Amino acid sequence: MKVLVVEDERKIAGFLQRGLGDEGHQVEIAGELSLARAALTDHGFDLILVDRMLPDGDGLDLIRQLRRAGDSTPAICLTARDRIEEKVTGLQGGADDYLVKPFSFEELLARIEAVLRRSRTEPELKVGDLRIDVPARRVFRGAVEIRLTAREFDLLRFLVERKGQVISRTRLLEAVWDTSHDPGTNSVDVYISYLRSKIDKGFDPPLVHTLRGVGYVVEDKKR
Ligand code: CA
Repeated sequence: MKVLVVEDERKIAGFLQRGLGDEGHQVEIAGELSLARAALTDHGFDLILVDRMLPDGDGLDLIRQLRRAGDSTPAICLTARDRIEEKVTGLQGGADDYLVKPFSFEELLARIEAVLRRSRTEPELKVGDLRIDVPARRVFRGAVEIRLTAREFDLLRFLVERKGQVISRTRLLEAVWDTSHDPGTNSVDVYISYLRSKIDKGFDPPLVHTLRGVGYVVEDKKR
């Protein structure tokens, strides 16, 4: 399993890296939110462990951003703050669980197991013969598996969750990238074309449709 640990305290990050590594997991450490965002753009993770007090902000903002984009990668908040209201904020922000420092490694493993068990029960998404196995982050058209990057996957998932609805470029930019992204950018169009070349090229019917000047829609019908 690939685990992203977002933690600025080296001792804790090291402890998690060793412990999870010994359990056979691949661990990547990000000491700041900006580094975590970069890591999340490039690779799909199966689990995120995130500290709340980071040098460049609150780890919970990262989870919120992922959830807004339709990304349900299981996430556990790690924090020294143990007040009940902060726990509630954490869970409302989209964290799947909360662990108060200091915690034992056994406690962490138990929480990880519980969170993964819950996430596995999520339904799959379908449109036409396209199927998304959400927890596994895998995409198929018919029996053919299609490899997507993390960003392409998030974009497709957001559209398929809203199949039949026309989604504007701005909304996609906010949901799949982030709100601070330059609205003049053509990232959405570029990624839509990547997505099309992977999920529609060589398959019939096409599922990704452009409504010129309005936005995009994913559906199993001609437009
Ligand atoms: Ca910290």
